[in-house]
Amino acid sequence: MKDLEEFARLISDTRNYFQTRLSLGETSLLLGPREEDRGGGSPAPDEQLARLEERVRSCTRCALHRSRTKVVFGTGTARTGLVFVGEAPGRDEDIQGEPFVGRAGQLLTRIIEAIQLSRDDVYITNVIKCRPEGNRDPHPHEIELCSRYLIEQLEILKPRAICALGRFAAQALSGLKLSMAGYRTEDLFYRGIRVFATYHPAACLRNASLKRPVWEDMQKLRDFLKSS
Ligand code: SF4
Repeated sequence: MKDLEEFARLISDTRNYFQTRLSLGETSLLLGPREEDRGGGSPAPDEQLARLEERVRSCTRCALHRSRTKVVFGTGTARTGLVFVGEAPGRDEDIQGEPFVGRAGQLLTRIIEAIQLSRDDVYITNVIKCRPEGNRDPHPHEIELCSRYLIEQLEILKPRAICALGRFAAQALSGLKLSMAGYRTEDLFYRGIRVFATYHPAACLRNASLKRPVWEDMQKLRDFLKSS
């Protein structure tokens, strides 16, 4: 009799346990400890970025995959809340698989250092992850297809501010069609995140007079980061 009572109580406790799990919105039975019980929950941003990078490395969404040497996904961290977004990889980036590693990359490093940060403090990526042949401008459908990865990156990174390097990045992020002067003076936003547009470092290498406005844009960006 006692055994039967204990068995009935066990059944009742088990039913209550599963009703509680159901009321918490769980719909499947996991064998073993739950992710959150193991101290898990959502993967850390670095882990999420690594998983996304894995997907992008095998991407064949557009024709640019045929001519690429390496996918250029992005590098760095968002611990300072700042993400730099350029247009597309060039020759050096395509070979090394890293964004902004050529002469334009060296200038970007100096631009970042001018606001008392280092490359390790920020995240750097491009709208397009594979090099357009001959460094041609990306086609609108390539921007449309590849910018979906940028959207995912920004969702993971959750930056406080984005620096758009050049017209393509400014347009892709703001959705506006303006002149470069217009992008620099307009208050731009990407999904509520403040976007600061400035000239691409490669443009500064071609025209040294652009370095002054880039410096002014970086001062605005630095002041925003300090005050936000
Ligand atoms: S450019 Fe972007 S969309 Fe096109 S193949 Fe490369 S990763 Fe995929």
